[in-house]
Amino acid sequence: MVWTDGLTTESCFMKITDVEAIHLRLPKIVEAADGTQDCLIVRVQTDAGIVGLGEVVSCSYVGKAVIEAPRSAPFRHGLAAIVTGMDALDLDAIHNAMIQGVSWYGPGGVARHAMSGVDMALWDIRGKVEGKPVRKLLREDAADAVPAYASVLWPERPELVRESAEQFTAQGYRAVKYGWAPMGPDAALDEALVAAAREALGPDVNLMVDAGRAWDAETALGRVARFEKYNVFWLEEPLHPFDVKGYRDVSTQSSIPIAGGEAMTLVGEYADLLHNGKIHFVQPDLGRVGGITGALAIARLANETGARAVPHAYGTGVLLAASAQWAAASEQPLTEYTRAPSPLARNLARHGMAFRDGALCLTDDPGLGMALDEDVVAKFRV
Ligand SMILES: [Mg+2]
Repeated sequence: MVWTDGLTTESCFMKITDVEAIHLRLPKIVEAADGTQDCLIVRVQTDAGIVGLGEVVSCSYVGKAVIEAPRSAPFRHGLAAIVTGMDALDLDAIHNAMIQGVSWYGPGGVARHAMSGVDMALWDIRGKVEGKPVRKLLREDAADAVPAYASVLWPERPELVRESAEQFTAQGYRAVKYGWAPMGPDAALDEALVAAAREALGPDVNLMVDAGRAWDAETALGRVARFEKYNVFWLEEPLHPFDVKGYRDVSTQSSIPIAGGEAMTLVGEYADLLHNGKIHFVQPDLGRVGGITGALAIARLANETGARAVPHAYGTGVLLAASAQWAAASEQPLTEYTRAPSPLARNLARHGMAFRDGALCLTDDPGLGMALDEDVVAKFRV
């Protein structure tokens, strides 16, 4: 990943006048590992009238509090109180202020999740000021199309997996990921799910398998032995996300490349997972790791170990836009593209990105190139 020198632009002071945390939630929540049932969007306003959007991928109620908490004493304040009045174009100063400002309850976990939304919004603003899409701020010759893999939860039974995979193939997807339950406790069912996906996708579509942190290292290696004949592109999160020793055992012995890292927030955590866990694909979620700025730091780490960085992006079109712009500036662009049915995932962000020939074709619209559909906001706002 190449990026421009420094994060500041030579420009006049553009004051942040408001930071809004917009929490949206479906009226009916089901028990499933589907993070598109609610979302937290950050909207940063400036005195120039330029507005930026970002997304926080977290427990949204808590993330909203981290943004909105009014100040009661030094260090007892949320991000809005910290950054309001600062120069929206001075990302470096804002980052330092946020990291210092959350030091009593950060810098990782939900504090970093919330910072991610602010960071994305600031990159959006910077792109709008410079009249360029964010990817061109990151890299002058960034790609204009990013291969995108369809991503959904495992259907309940192999025959339903087959139906789903046939639909994705017909729609032109060249890579598909299935994840989480019912995969996990039953080795025979797990293999049947993978076999059904491979059979229906045919030999030419990449298949990613997300185990949803279901196993220990020994069990994971047993599943690798069962799955390897189905040509799996990567096996994701076979273990608890912080089991670095386990990741090392699996990554160094598995015939299938191992992916992980969506749950982490701090550069030091990623350094441990990459250098000691030896994973092959690292999956920073831009809504958790500190936005585009945080993900750039993780991409540099991945370069050190030879791992490939592919964004985890199971949210709304806001996260998708940021992830696609960031991925477009990498050496081997690829992004997750959730196909979850939630109207928040599908309809909240209005953007010009189009899926064609297995890739998201990006526009030259400045910044992150999208706006919120205010009807969707009004319908689902908590
Ligand atoms: Mg995953």
